[in-house]
Amino acid sequence: MKKSALNRRDFLKVGLTGLVTTGATGLLLADDKKKKQDTKKQAATASGPQPPGGRREGFIYRTLGRTGVVLPVVSMGVMNSDNPELVRAALDSGLVHLDTAHGYQRGRNEEIIGQVLKGRPRDSYFIATKVREGERFLEMVDISLQRLGLEYVDILYLHNLSKRDNVLAEENLKVMEQVKKSGKARFIGVSTHSNEHEVIRAALEARIYDVVLTAYNFRKENIKELDAAMAEAAAAGIGLVAMKTMAGAFWDKQRTQPINTKAALKWAMQNPNLTTSIPGMTTFDQLKSNLEVVKDLKLTPEELYDLKMGETQNLAGLYCQGCERCVPQCPKALPIPEMMRAYMYAYGYKNLAAAHELVSSLNLPDNPCAGCSSCSVNCALKFDVHDRLVDINRLKSVPAEFFG
Ligand code: SF4
Ligand code: SF4
Repeated sequence: MKKSALNRRDFLKVGLTGLVTTGATGLLLADDKKKKQDTKKQAATASGPQPPGGRREGFIYRTLGRTGVVLPVVSMGVMNSDNPELVRAALDSGLVHLDTAHGYQRGRNEEIIGQVLKGRPRDSYFIATKVREGERFLEMVDISLQRLGLEYVDILYLHNLSKRDNVLAEENLKVMEQVKKSGKARFIGVSTHSNEHEVIRAALEARIYDVVLTAYNFRKENIKELDAAMAEAAAAGIGLVAMKTMAGAFWDKQRTQPINTKAALKWAMQNPNLTTSIPGMTTFDQLKSNLEVVKDLKLTPEELYDLKMGETQNLAGLYCQGCERCVPQCPKALPIPEMMRAYMYAYGYKNLAAAHELVSSLNLPDNPCAGCSSCSVNCALKFDVHDRLVDINRLKSVPAEFFG
């Protein structure tokens, strides 16, 4: 992939108009119909509810379920962003929704976002953060607000759920409702990386959640099931936000074969039940590319072809589906999907700190596969699970200070 290594100065000099180009092929596929629908909806709402900070010309907007909040189809995941200038540039360019989490960069991420937001009108942006379930949940919400310098977040997610029981657990429902009632979050939701269809349906059943943040991308095997659950949730007024749209960003561990991330983002947002997506951005080039997508979701034939590279070249990729098929196959019931996610953070995102944090949180022994002469796991994506697991588990022995 050719990189132009754009920095903030270049980004501002070129200006948005210069950055946004129309597809050279001009070939409109089935998604052209969706673009027309989006444009029609936009026209219908141009005088209705406005997005935070107002509309930008050419941007495609959708409404976040019953919250009524209007957002551009592309937002910013800041998990890997430690450059405040990049976040400022995104907000200045018209992206309004930032998605962080209590645990990102051990809290430094929320502090960086807090610095960026300082002095900006509160109604010009839309902030989500995420906190994991647990005894100190309410205390952690307060710490997040303190770091962000905000009295409230727009969405608070109960982070990383994969089971119906956790979504519906009485204690979780109680604290989430309490946070909303106290005004510390305008809207509440759950986030899910695996078993997403079950989590989405449970969120629907719970009747208290406004939003679900779900993994969603062109590599999902169970896409029909997930699409069906999303359609049910959307019909009931739950707002849906997509993450992991880039499916790991690379096809290989060595990062020699990049995924066409622009195509991947367009592909995800073809689903009209999604309001927005939170692709992670760490460079101005990525911001530039995503600002093109926010104006034009049509996929060119070349982009569609690129998305099939995994199939055509038999590449397993770095993205774990989170299907959990492997867990019962492993006699030790190891948390394989979590370990595979850490593997993707390390090799796909080059975010060793996030990978280290995730691996350490699982409290596995130094050799989790000890005693297994051969691996009985048959991964849906043909990952060499044992190999990846041993590889990523090595990170645990590195002290956290090495990752800043
Ligand atoms: S080698 Fe590891 S992952 Fe594979 S079955 Fe044994 S313990 Fe589970
Ligand atoms: S490692 Fe393979 S089988 Fe296990 S959850 Fe991921 S994709 Fe599914």
